[in-house]
Amino acid sequence: MRQKLVAGNWKSNGNRQFVEQLLGALKAHSDQVPAEVKVAVCPPSVYLTKVEELLRGTAFLLGAQNVSAFEEGAYTGEVTASMLKDVGCSLVIIGHSERRSLLAENESQFAEKIKLALNAGLQPVYCVGESLDQRRQGQAQAVCREQLLAGLAAVTSEQAAQLVIAYEPVWAIGTGETASPEQVQEVHACLRQALRERFGEQAELIQILYGGSVKAANARELFALPDVDGGLIGGASLVADEFLAICKAGINA
Ligand code: PEP
Repeated sequence: MRQKLVAGNWKSNGNRQFVEQLLGALKAHSDQVPAEVKVAVCPPSVYLTKVEELLRGTAFLLGAQNVSAFEEGAYTGEVTASMLKDVGCSLVIIGHSERRSLLAENESQFAEKIKLALNAGLQPVYCVGESLDQRRQGQAQAVCREQLLAGLAAVTSEQAAQLVIAYEPVWAIGTGETASPEQVQEVHACLRQALRERFGEQAELIQILYGGSVKAANARELFALPDVDGGLIGGASLVADEFLAICKAGINA
C-alpha cells in the first residue's frame, strides 16, 4: 500500500503576512489531517526558512518549487539541492509545465535536477503532462511516457523508491477543468507500467500524484483511483479550508 501524499504548490503567490496566516490556519486545524496522509507545502524559495520555522513540531513536510541543475559554485541566482536540504526541505517539484513553457526548461535539465535532488536526499516530484493539442491527437500517454523516461534517465533502481511523479495535464492546470477519472487512471496506469519496465518491482513503491484543478469537491473520487496516490495542488492550496478538505479526501480513498 502506497501512502497518500498531498502537496500544495503555492507558486509565486503571497508575502510574509500571507504565509503566516495560511500556515496559522493549517496548523490550527492540523488535527483534521488524517495520520495516513502525508502533506507537504511548497512555498516560494525566499519563504522556505520562515515556513520551516513555522512548521517545526508539526507533521507537515516542506517542499521547494524548483532546484538548480548545477551542484554548487558560480551560478548566480541559483538555489542548489544541498541548500534546499539544508533549510529543511524533504521534496522538490521538478519539471512543472510552467517551467517547461515559460522558462523553456527541458528534459536534460530535469534529469540533472532529479539526479542532484536524489543525491542531496530530497524526493523529486517530477511533473509530466500533455498539452490540449497532444491530447486531442491521441498522444497523451506517449507524451507522458516520453517525458517520464527522459527525466528519469539518470535514476538507478536503488533510488527509484524515493521518486514521486505528478501527472499534470497542461490543459487542466489552473483552468478549473479537471481530467476525468478515466483519463487520469489511464495515464497513471501507463506511467506505472513505464516505471515497472524501467525499475522493476520498485515501481510499486513510487507515488504518482494527479494535479490539475483538484478541489475538495473532486479530490475523493480522484484519490480513490487505483494508480493515484494523492495530488499536487495549485490554486486550492492557497485556501486553508479547501486544502485541508483535500487532505482529508486522502483517507480511505
Ligand atoms: C499545479 O500548478 O501544479 C496545479 C495543479 O495547479 P491547479 O491546482 O491550480 O490546477
